[in-house]
Amino acid sequence: MSSNLELKRICQQCGKEFIAKKTTTKFCSLSCGQRNYKVRQRMNKIETENAQIRASHLVHSGPIADHSPEQDLVDIKMLAFVTSMSTSTIFRLIKDPEFPRVKIGGRLLFDKRVVVEYLRRRYGNW
Ligand SMILES: [Zn+2]
Repeated sequence: MSSNLELKRICQQCGKEFIAKKTTTKFCSLSCGQRNYKVRQRMNKIETENAQIRASHLVHSGPIADHSPEQDLVDIKMLAFVTSMSTSTIFRLIKDPEFPRVKIGGRLLFDKRVVVEYLRRRYGNW
């Protein structure tokens, strides 16, 4: 069986056509291979740096994007819903002048996170 391994390939570094002896050969010469290796190393380094920048960006911007102030301000029914308490329990609790509340145009609203912080401080350690 004759070994007919004359494969025409395009060098991945310089773009010239060459005859490869193995199917895995990607470069026309050793120097092209070495040059390409250096380029790839540089590309890998840039990609790693970009990934690190993206990761740190996610960490810093994540919580800000999740919490807009509008979503944290709720009425008493919604507060009951999010805290799993009954509205009558909340009515009893807000007799405490310390209970955090927001009055906007005669409406009584609550900042969920502040209320939870208050409950945690006052009643529990969960
Ligand atoms: Zn080449």
